[in-house]
Amino acid sequence: MKVLVAVKRVIDYNVKPRVKMDGTGVDLTNVKMSMNPFDEIAVEEAIRLKEKGVATEIVAVSIGPAKAQETLRTALAMGADRAILVQTDEEVEPLGVAKIIAKIAGEEQPELVILGKQAIDDDNNATGQMLAALLGWPQGTFASKLDPSGGEVSVTREVDGGLETDKLKLPAVITTDLRLNEPRYASLPNIMKAKSKPLATKTPEEIGVDIARRLETLKVAEPAKRQAGDKVGSVDELIGKLKTLGVVA
Ligand code: AMP
Repeated sequence: MKVLVAVKRVIDYNVKPRVKMDGTGVDLTNVKMSMNPFDEIAVEEAIRLKEKGVATEIVAVSIGPAKAQETLRTALAMGADRAILVQTDEEVEPLGVAKIIAKIAGEEQPELVILGKQAIDDDNNATGQMLAALLGWPQGTFASKLDPSGGEVSVTREVDGGLETDKLKLPAVITTDLRLNEPRYASLPNIMKAKSKPLATKTPEEIGVDIARRLETLKVAEPAKRQAGDKVGSVDELIGKLKTLGVVA
């Protein structure tokens, strides 16, 4: 079984984003970038399927600037077999990403495409769902457990009331939730080995996908600053304060 994994280069999750002075977006100058955490989980799951003898080949795909090669090398160092970079300096919206991955899925014919449930930069939570719709494949979103066998995959999903388990016919699209697994760190020898694994580069034009933006960002703003807390000496004082503030009657 071939598995396609989508990995996005995003602002590192430990970095506190700075909004640009003109409110047009987040300032990424000299900011540490890393693989989207949910995509690390997607890569890890694909590797575990390979270790179990279920997956035969793992292909990592990223859409982004030349630097996204580093993200793909990380996926290769973790254990992916080869990588495809669809290179563009434009910001690609979920629909554009989904169309590109759909085209690659058409060429590669994987049985599973695994994506993160959301990219932590834009928090869209849309690409996997759009991809499934474009391909006409079943989707298992927010997966916390995956079990493919006999032309089907059973997916346990985290829903409000607890856990739901669905059976999907392969080929299928899966998006990962936090509890699916704990991704491994790439070892130094594997980082070295990853340098010689195949990484193909294409452009959206070569793939035949129009990535023109359909969404317009009107404004990006910092969250409101939290007010400093106040210490109170007793419950009565607390109730008094809450009354003054109009929180309780
Ligand atoms: P989103 O819908 O933007 O929240 O992203 C959901 C998932 O789609 C991510 O976790 C990635 O697996 C995949 N994805 C989104 N954008 C890209 C991209 N530029 N390159 C590769 N994968 C992406």
